[in-house]
Amino acid sequence: MVPMHPIAVHGKVLNVLYMPEGPSIVILKEAVSAFEGRKVLRVTGNTKEDKDRLVDKKVLAFKSWGKHFLICFREFTVRIHFLLFGSYRINEQKESAPRLSLEFKNGELNFYACSVKFIEDDLDEMYDWSADIMAPAWDPAAAVKKLKAHPEMMACDALLDQDIFAGSGNIIKNEVLWRIKMHPLSQMGALKPRQLKQLADATHKYAFDFLEWKKAFVLKKNWKAHTKRVCERCELPMVKEYLGKTNRRTFYCPNCQVLHHL
Ligand SMILES: [Zn+2]
Repeated sequence: MVPMHPIAVHGKVLNVLYMPEGPSIVILKEAVSAFEGRKVLRVTGNTKEDKDRLVDKKVLAFKSWGKHFLICFREFTVRIHFLLFGSYRINEQKESAPRLSLEFKNGELNFYACSVKFIEDDLDEMYDWSADIMAPAWDPAAAVKKLKAHPEMMACDALLDQDIFAGSGNIIKNEVLWRIKMHPLSQMGALKPRQLKQLADATHKYAFDFLEWKKAFVLKKNWKAHTKRVCERCELPMVKEYLGKTNRRTFYCPNCQVLHHL
């Protein structure tokens, strides 16, 4: 069961995330921009991190890398990872206790059931921005190079590998492979350079379609593979299996999605 994803991009935001993928983190980043440059007045929450450090500190920027949401301060960064059932509220509270709650003069930002971690290192050293499918620095050639280095790797695992496709998740995986007619068990070493490039480009492209559709509340309506029972190209049943080393729920059409194996 996937919970509903109520979102308002303007004004109040009420959001339940379920294993959010990169585009949902970009939506969050846009939704909290009013707090950028603002000082944290009060901090509460049951995180074990030393949250009092945040008091009186100014948020320099909100960033994201893949599924990581980053709140940047001058000397450190707070990394939020929503894991399975994390959620947030902007200018609203849930009944449950927040993991981290930041109060600003112009509102509040609350995070629930997520992982909160302080990062002391320089983000540019920690993160390969070229791997983030949503980032301006996204580099499909770098992704292709990484895919080539893993000839045995299957497409269904490659698309969940955060070092290669940071921000890609199970929905993106299923949709991209259906779009490019590639069987999820296809191995990277069996693909032609053109097909590897297509895999990288299609992932980037679908991530931005996801972003646009999610903002317009029509993401699910546009699913072609994820949770689907029939392939609309073939009018034949889709297969649902738990595939790959990642063993995640995979939907594919065995008729039009071609298996490339070594
Ligand atoms: Zn098909």
